[in-house]
Amino acid sequence: MKKLNFKEQLKSLYLPYDDNTLRRFEFYMKGVLDWNKKINLTAITDEDEFVEKHYIDSLKIAKLGLIKPGCKVIDIGTGGGFPGVPLAIAYPKTEFVLVDSLKKRLKVIDELCGNVGINNVSTVHGRAEDLGRNFEYRENFDCCVSRAVANLSTLCEYCLPMVKQGGYFIAYKTDAAKVEIKNAEKAVRILGGGDVEIISSDHEDIDHCFVKIKKVKITPNVYPRKPGTPSKQPL
Ligand code: SAM
Repeated sequence: MKKLNFKEQLKSLYLPYDDNTLRRFEFYMKGVLDWNKKINLTAITDEDEFVEKHYIDSLKIAKLGLIKPGCKVIDIGTGGGFPGVPLAIAYPKTEFVLVDSLKKRLKVIDELCGNVGINNVSTVHGRAEDLGRNFEYRENFDCCVSRAVANLSTLCEYCLPMVKQGGYFIAYKTDAAKVEIKNAEKAVRILGGGDVEIISSDHEDIDHCFVKIKKVKITPNVYPRKPGTPSKQPL
């Protein structure tokens, strides 16, 4: 792990860190790379690339200033814990709920977080379409984040129901998102979203951006539709 470069990146994002923070980042990365030999968690096997593409990419959301101490964030389709785990390490006073439909990935996250004292993460096994109809999750989060899970229209149906009125859904996307946004206009409106903003992630080598959508109205009861429908028939 190129510690110097990573520390510089944390500083440039105004994310405070101490030895314990750095130890957690290192432990989690080594744990994921180790588990990756047994179950598929990430295509990345090199530590420097891991830092760049999983850690820095996940943490770039800091510049939006939406994640705050005391708030609740849900990560839909977290896979090996991205962006949820790096965010939980960087924001120890924020609560993170990490959702995935594949249980074995969540078990790795639970084990690694437990072993290195990342106490502000809980995992939930299930499909976003089911959890979005459960009032333990529905309209219950200040922010919902999601990276590399579905097209924006489908993703809005997974994510916007989870967000409280006044909260935000932030999708990690590539610069090709402009086309997706056009196709998702109807979904955003129907599901209670307001204006859609694209914010460049200013990543040196990766053309990533954030799509930020404010929740302005509660989501109508009929959404999300049953599992599979949002991806087969996007709004
Ligand atoms: N977000 C992680 C990242 O950026 O590395 C993982 C991305 S991976 C390509 C997509 C993940 O979304 C998979 O782990 C998959 O199981 C999960 N997923 C896809 N559809 C889902 C759904 N409807 N509900 C919950 N999880 C879902």
